[in-house]
Amino acid sequence: MRKGLQEELLREGLCDWCIGRYYRLASKGTLEAAKANRNSCIVCRGAAFYDYRQMLSKELERRTFRTYNIGVRVSDKALVTEENIVLKYGIKNYTPLKQALRSKIMEEMKDVIPGSPARERPEVNFIFDFSDSPRVKVAERSYQICVWIRKDESVRLTAPTCPHCNGRGCSYCDWIGKENDGSLESFLLFVFPRLYGTGTPTITLPFKEIPGLKISGTGIPVYMSFSSVSDRVYMPLKLSFKPIDGVEITQAYTLSSKSEYTRRYFLTFYVELLLTEAPSNKVVNSLYSISQVRLFGERGRVWAKSLKVSRVELTGNKIRLVLTIESGISLYSLLGLPSENSIKKVERPLLPDGLAKSITHLELLRLVEA
Ligand SMILES: [Zn+2]
Ligand SMILES: [Zn+2]
Repeated sequence: MRKGLQEELLREGLCDWCIGRYYRLASKGTLEAAKANRNSCIVCRGAAFYDYRQMLSKELERRTFRTYNIGVRVSDKALVTEENIVLKYGIKNYTPLKQALRSKIMEEMKDVIPGSPARERPEVNFIFDFSDSPRVKVAERSYQICVWIRKDESVRLTAPTCPHCNGRGCSYCDWIGKENDGSLESFLLFVFPRLYGTGTPTITLPFKEIPGLKISGTGIPVYMSFSSVSDRVYMPLKLSFKPIDGVEITQAYTLSSKSEYTRRYFLTFYVELLLTEAPSNKVVNSLYSISQVRLFGERGRVWAKSLKVSRVELTGNKIRLVLTIESGISLYSLLGLPSENSIKKVERPLLPDGLAKSITHLELLRLVEA
């Protein structure tokens, strides 16, 4: 360290905290004199001397969380000034501004903030932003739960779009954009938050509604996503809630990420058709246009749509179709079935004109989930 460094840093207009970072051996006298620069310090701009507790108090009032992290934001100008100072004076071993501020805030706040600090996937992130007028920004991790339900034929799953605002949100629909019509979705959007004091969740059903479908067995998954961290803390205790009549929850759990329910399933299966006579090439080619088929399980049935015929195999008057369905949900789950080989029957796919009548036998051979 060059001689007289601390006096020069003091003359530059640095505060005692910044001089201490750049030169650990600074004298008491220098540090005392540098206290006068605390509000005007050209590097930290007073960020080291704010009342962090005061800055955070409002955000702490409204939140419950288990883990947190603290981040710091400073202006580009402050970073450039620091770089110029350390280059000019050849300062090497020092803790950079942002890192030093973060440690200082962590240390001062560790007994004030409830919960434990966590660098990895904290539930809430408090960002002390000094880049403009100092304030705390909060980033919360969204929170997903999966609820598996069984239901009677009479229960509707999805709520219709609010007719007053066409889904944009209005006072009539509490800014949700859907109608409170007694369906499962409307229960989760309108009633559930009131009953349990949570925020409004986003509901994802990984398939289109099939009217009159009874869902039995293990049921189907319904995903609820919350953006408030308080919901995350209390929800696991409330997963055993009783929804509307005709709906039963078979299991519920929290998901580690959103990607768990955006995953797609591909189901491939073979269907054999027996025709009264050998089909023409034209008929065989037209089979590629089949786009939906009805599947029957032990306790349910479903239209499998967005179906693709990937291959047509022809032997005499026997045709084997290789079909693939892309689905947001496992068809087994949709049908309430435990596993493959449990789909019992395929009803006639929507066949091209003229072909349907000539089919004498239709059998599902195999179902493979990829
Ligand atoms: Zn400073
Ligand atoms: Zn509305």
